[in-house]
Amino acid sequence: MRSELIDLIDFSKDLYGNLDYIPLHAPCFLGNEKKLVNDCLDSTFVSSVGKYVDKFENELAHFLGVKHVVATSSGTSALHIALILAGVERSSEVITQSLSFVATCNAINYCGANPIFIDVDMKTLGMSADSLLDFLNNHAKIENGICINKLSNKIISACLPMHTFGQPCEIDKIKEICDSWCLPLVEDAAESLGSQHKDRYTGTFGLAAAVSFNGNKIITGGGGGAILTNDTALAIKAKHLTTTAKIQHKWEFRHNDIGYNYRMPNLNAALLCAQLEQLPDFINNKRDTAKKYSLFCKENKIEFVNESVDSRSNYWLNTLLLNNLEEKLEFLEYANNHGLMSRPCWVLMNELTMYKNCFSLPQINAKFLSERLVNIPSSVIL
Ligand SMILES: *Cc1c(COP(=O)(O)O)cnc(C)c1O
Repeated sequence: MRSELIDLIDFSKDLYGNLDYIPLHAPCFLGNEKKLVNDCLDSTFVSSVGKYVDKFENELAHFLGVKHVVATSSGTSALHIALILAGVERSSEVITQSLSFVATCNAINYCGANPIFIDVDMKTLGMSADSLLDFLNNHAKIENGICINKLSNKIISACLPMHTFGQPCEIDKIKEICDSWCLPLVEDAAESLGSQHKDRYTGTFGLAAAVSFNGNKIITGGGGGAILTNDTALAIKAKHLTTTAKIQHKWEFRHNDIGYNYRMPNLNAALLCAQLEQLPDFINNKRDTAKKYSLFCKENKIEFVNESVDSRSNYWLNTLLLNNLEEKLEFLEYANNHGLMSRPCWVLMNELTMYKNCFSLPQINAKFLSERLVNIPSSVIL
C-alpha cells in the first residue's frame, strides 16, 4: 500500500489521541444526558407517554426551521411512514439510488412498492439530478397529473434521494425536477441531520423526510428517528399512524386504521433532548476534523470527499475515494488490523438478492464509487 495511506492512518490516530482502537463513530455524552435521563426515570414515564417526546419534537422543529417533527422508534420506521404520507402504495414504484443503506429500499418494500435505481452524482455521492431527468425523459409520462413508468405501466409514486454520509445531494435541482414531473419528494436525511444546501437544512426540501438517531448517527437516542414535514395534515396523519392509529379518548381503545407502534419512548427522547443541545457544537467539531483530514489528503495526493459548493456538510462520516478496488481492500485490511476502524461503502442495492430484479439504469458512478469509497474515523473529538 502507498506510504501516504499509512501516513493518513497515523494522522487519524493522532487526531483521536492514539487510543488502542479508534471506532468509526462513537457517541458523545458530555452534556445534560444524565440529568435529563435521570429526570425521566424519576418521573416513571419512560415509555410512550411523557414530556420529553413533545419537547424533543418542538426543539428539533425549531432548530431545522420545519413546521412539524414526529418522533419515531427508528429512522427506518420514519422512512416507512414518510413514504406512506407521500402516497406510496402497493404495486407502485419509487425512484431512488442504489448507493445507500438497505433501510432506504426496505422502507419502499414495506409499502408494497418497488425501487427504481438511477445513478448517483460523482461529487455529492447522492442522487444525480441528471440521471433523474434522463430516466424520466426516456421512461416516464404524466397522465392526469400522475407520473407513470412507460416500461412497467406502473405509477411512480415518489422520488427518494439520500444525502450520503452527510453530504447534501443536488436537492434543489431534484426538487425542481420532481415538481415538473408530479413526483412527491421524500428525503432520506438519516445521515445528514444539520447539513445544509443553500442555507436550508436537508430534510426540509420535500413533502416529508426521515432522520435517524441510531447509535452511530451524529446525535443519538440509543435508537430513534423522526419524520419532518411542513404539511400540518400530514404531520397529524404521521402521529396517528405511528401511534397505532388510536382515536383519542380517555379510556376507550378504538383504532380507525392499521397503524404501527413506531413511537419513540420518552426515555430515548430525554437522551435526545440533551444531545440536540450539543448538535451545533458537534457539527462545528466534525467540520474542523474534516478540514484537517482534507488538508492532509491534499498534501498527500489522497482524494478526500469535500462538501460541494452551496453545501455545508455535517461531515457525519469522513470519506476517501481511493484509486481502485485493490487499494480499497488493502486499506481496509491494514487500517482495521492496526486499530483504526474503517469501513467500505455498502454493496449496491441493485446487487442484493431482494432487489436485483428491480429496474436499474446503468450504475456507472455508483459502481465506480462503491469500489473505491472508504469511511474513516469521524467521532466528535473531545
Ligand atoms: C441509519 C440510516 C437509516 C435508518 O436508520 P435506523 O434508525 O437505523 O433505522 C436509513 N437510511 C440511511 C441512509 C441510514 O444511514
